[in-house]
Amino acid sequence: TDKILEVKDLEVSFLTYAGEVKAIRGVTFDVKKGEAVAIVGESGSGKSVTSQSIMQLIPSPPGVYKNGEIIFDGQDLLNLNNSEMEKVRGSSIGMIFQDPMTSLNPTMTVGKQIAEGLIKHQGLNKSEAMERAVEMLRLVGIPNPEARVKQYPHEFSGGMRQRAMIAIALSCNPKLLIADEPTTALDVTIQAQIIDLMKDLQNKFGTSIIIITHDLGVVADLAQRVVVMYAGKIIEQGSLDDIFYNPQHPYTWGLLRSVPRLDSKGQRLESIEGTPPDLLDPPKGCPFYPRCDYAMEVCVNHFPEETKITDDHKVHCWLQHPDAPKVDVPIKIGG
Ligand code: SF4
Ligand code: MG
Repeated sequence: TDKILEVKDLEVSFLTYAGEVKAIRGVTFDVKKGEAVAIVGESGSGKSVTSQSIMQLIPSPPGVYKNGEIIFDGQDLLNLNNSEMEKVRGSSIGMIFQDPMTSLNPTMTVGKQIAEGLIKHQGLNKSEAMERAVEMLRLVGIPNPEARVKQYPHEFSGGMRQRAMIAIALSCNPKLLIADEPTTALDVTIQAQIIDLMKDLQNKFGTSIIIITHDLGVVADLAQRVVVMYAGKIIEQGSLDDIFYNPQHPYTWGLLRSVPRLDSKGQRLESIEGTPPDLLDPPKGCPFYPRCDYAMEVCVNHFPEETKITDDHKVHCWLQHPDAPKVDVPIKIGG
């Protein structure tokens, strides 16, 4: 198979006092070997929960996996126990978060933090691991790595800390790198450098990447495929060109509206009027209908099945669905 990851019909909920929050509602997508896939959507769309679910970092309780499979490198991660999963996290899947300060250990030198995983998961001894830590810091573009390796996270700038995080994530040669808003906290120049670094690593090592981002400039720069999420569902997915040049879903149109050019950096998603639905009680039909300028009667009660525009480009919208009622009245609810 040419796929490193297959997420199938994933459903994840949070059981709260107020009721069941259905954060992920039947998510299916895959990542090919060596491919970078961007997951985009507003906050609360389920994109971070999706990445945390793959890593099984959903706090449980209140989080529960209700359904689905997460096939990584041939095995369903949902069947692994905690220690098996910890091994996957330490060696096969690397993760980079938005704020490196929360994931770096402030009491341990950066070198030790890189070395830790190498000793634990790759069987290196201490001095080999420290040598490799120096190499890793050099690889991610940190100057004077021999000295830096002995420093603590607070001695690094924000951009350097994110590079250190990437070094940790990559030190065990992961097959998949998951980056959740990795550049959001950084200034524009550093952002661009971090994205360039990720591109380099993808080219050099064939690492597959899932990048979760609000920034369509980052998407255009890094991703080959794009998954658009809304209200816990994937509403459109396709190649970068499909999504940027031939988008089929009104929500995707809204996301793209503010972006003047594909190569423009630092563009953030335009906020689309209205708010996403409450996932305690999600709408039966298309979750976007209260905000959609094109909503029809059918949209209110029936979620549209997937329509294939091409084999690779899929959308859930009645506008594109072959079984859509022939005569339907556009109702102006939202927008
Ligand atoms: Fe709009 Fe209907 Fe398409 Fe949903 S299914 S995006 S409400 S047209
Ligand atoms: Mg998030």
